[in-house]
Amino acid sequence: MPRKKTRSLRCPICRTLVTSANQDFPFCSDRCRTIDLGKWASGKYVISTAINDPEELENIAEEQSRRRPAPDGHSSEEQ
Ligand SMILES: [Zn+2]
Repeated sequence: MPRKKTRSLRCPICRTLVTSANQDFPFCSDRCRTIDLGKWASGKYVISTAINDPEELENIAEEQSRRRPAPDGHSSEEQ
């Protein structure tokens, strides 16, 4: 009996269940796909909790750039 196989995964951004029928699979939406791309573009894939708001992601990126040590500096925390 022909039964259409539909894979499903959870959106890596907001954990919404997404089926492979979704055009944005494995993301639930174009927005989450954009957020994921932004994470890779920033060079740090460090988000461990779900983030639903792109503005929050921007805040995190801003915070990271502020914490970056000075180029000539004392990188004592580097391990
Ligand atoms: Zn999502």
